Amino acid sequence: MDFALSEELHALQETVRRLAQEKIKPRAREIDLTGEYPEDIFQEFRKADLLGLCIPEEYGGSGAGILGLTIAIEEVTKYSNVLGLMLLLTRLPTGPVMIAGTEAQKLDYLPGIAAGTQRAAFCLSEPGAGSDVAGMSTHVIDDPEVSGGVLLNGTKCWISGGMQADWLVVFAKSGDPSARHHQNIGGYLVRTDAEGVTRPRVDKKMGVKGIDTTEIVFDRVKIAPAQIIGGGFALAMQSLNAMRPIVAARGIGLAEGALMYAAEYVKSRAAFGKTIAEFQGIQWEIAKCATEIEAARLLTYRAAWLADQGKFTKEY
Ligand SMILES: Cc1cc2nc3c(=O)[nH]c(=O)nc-3n(C[C@H](O)[C@H](O)[C@H](O)COP(=O)(O)OP(=O)(O)OC[C@H]3O[C@@H](n4cnc5c(N)ncnc54)[C@H](O)[C@@H]3O)c2cc1C
Repeated sequence: MDFALSEELHALQETVRRLAQEKIKPRAREIDLTGEYPEDIFQEFRKADLLGLCIPEEYGGSGAGILGLTIAIEEVTKYSNVLGLMLLLTRLPTGPVMIAGTEAQKLDYLPGIAAGTQRAAFCLSEPGAGSDVAGMSTHVIDDPEVSGGVLLNGTKCWISGGMQADWLVVFAKSGDPSARHHQNIGGYLVRTDAEGVTRPRVDKKMGVKGIDTTEIVFDRVKIAPAQIIGGGFALAMQSLNAMRPIVAARGIGLAEGALMYAAEYVKSRAAFGKTIAEFQGIQWEIAKCATEIEAARLLTYRAAWLADQGKFTKEY
């Protein structure tokens, strides 16, 4: 058992830590206040080759895996939750392609994400179907004009990065939309400039401002056979399972950021003739917080390590 990061992952951590301190820390508050998409930081991530961390080298990525992305997101989120989300979005929609896509789909859709020339979003949730994924009503019907092709109809909501996305993975049902057969659910690759795709509104969020969540409507959108991933209900679940360590990394980064600010503050705030850092009651709270973060980090890294071995199905 070896708890040390590999040399490559350690170097990645150092690089992202520096970028976060130099570029993200000074911008974080402004992004939160304006709510504008931080294109400048996207370009910083692109220049630093951080957009393809979870994408294998043969598809243009750096092959750092879920663990690499987890480490990067943890560093970034110490200063900005929304910029952690920006990195997370390099994996959320590419996951279904990597898990169940054809070789041609991988070659078509992954290199653009790694190079930062394309962005994507993951469309699962609907106004009437959140946790209850099988309750979705978005569905496909046969395209009478294209053999093996389908037409996509429905509405997805709360889609992170939907406004910037060039392409989407959309989960939909074939057959009767009121049926709950798991095998009827599948993933479909959709370009956002396709006819019939509209993004009528974004949500007014309380936090994580800078990357909007979006409603996306599909009205008889033509899907060619080459855009069908399929994969069933299991693909939706496995795509989310593989993401869990990456989501957890944002929680850890946020907690570390909070601890960092708290540790600085208690050393400068004076009361009763001392800094409050000198009171044991405060030291206990800081130590408790650091201990809980360490425990959560170990659990998250282990989950990421398992996910990189493909162990994200229910057997694990
Ligand atoms: C900021 C943000 C970004 C998002 N980005 C995306 C995205 O990019 N793509 C996407 O597809 N979706 C996205 N979502 C949607 C998100 O995944 C859903 O909010 C989530 O699936 C929960 O669905 P819901 O909000 O409809 O809640 P519901 O499913 O209605 O749940 C409401 C409450 O009921 C509880 N509950 C539900 N079922 C059960 C049960 N069986 N037993 C006990 N309790 C239960 C839940 O825990 C919750 O507390 C985003 C949401 C947010 C807030």
